[in-house]
Amino acid sequence: MSEGPALPPLRDVIREHGLSASKALGQNFLFDSQLLTRIAAIPGDIAERDVLEIGPGPGGLTRALLAAGANVTAIERDHRCIPALEQLGQAYPDRLRLIEGDALTIDMPGLFVAPPAIVANLPYNVGTALLVGWLSAEWRPWWRSLTLMFQREVAERIVARPGSGAYGRLAVLSQWRSEARIAMPVHRSAFTPPPKVMSAVVHITPGNAPDGVSPETLGMVTAAAFGQRRKMLRQSLKSVPGALAALETLGIDPTRRPETLAIEDFVALARALQPIV
Ligand code: SAM
Repeated sequence: MSEGPALPPLRDVIREHGLSASKALGQNFLFDSQLLTRIAAIPGDIAERDVLEIGPGPGGLTRALLAAGANVTAIERDHRCIPALEQLGQAYPDRLRLIEGDALTIDMPGLFVAPPAIVANLPYNVGTALLVGWLSAEWRPWWRSLTLMFQREVAERIVARPGSGAYGRLAVLSQWRSEARIAMPVHRSAFTPPPKVMSAVVHITPGNAPDGVSPETLGMVTAAAFGQRRKMLRQSLKSVPGALAALETLGIDPTRRPETLAIEDFVALARALQPIV
């Protein structure tokens, strides 16, 4: 990695541009350049590759991504951050494409020719909504990998394995055709201001989609099963046409509870129901 151009300390940038963290925008900034360099390394070698960063804020993570050699497209909705990010772009000519707007409404796939690595430290609600959209999109997806900061409890639900209390719809969605792991825990004190809870960076890479299963059918089955997670499958899946017969065909005991089923079991159920749906 190159040393990169000399840049003013991030705290000076914040002061100069009046970027006090806005609670309404879910802003908790990262300043520790070593930590940011480690986060930027999680997607692997990004030199000369496209990276999409959502919510760059004052640009701490953006600096680390640029220093790692990436061509960064950054979407930020806080107008106050734009001049600071433009200055960063001037230090890395033609390497930072800045888009002011809301990532929840922008056509992101349309911005890229080759699949980008997506990297983001976002407010919890925005990050989860984007994650669900990215995981539900057409496969193979338009992105190469997802490297996303979440509060630790959400990160644990994303990577949860069957049998654990955290295992549910989000784990199935995140793992039925992708690999998801916690790449790095991040202490709350690393943020300014510090949030109330601990965080973790999750890394997700897409795999092959199983044949004959639509995300909608799988989503419908997991919503019914985990919607009543204390109940046996024969009760929770009663409302899904054909589900009880499918359980029998697949040899899945209907008295089991949803958290005991492997992801492959949910996939098999969705496949069996596909012709009915
Ligand atoms: N990436 C910076 C860092 O790590 O220090 C800032 C992180 S801060 C938690 C989240 C950033 O996402 C803020 O700058 C906020 O304005 C931005 N943001 C929040 N919602 C957004 C949205 N829907 N679209 C684009 N940016 C958003």
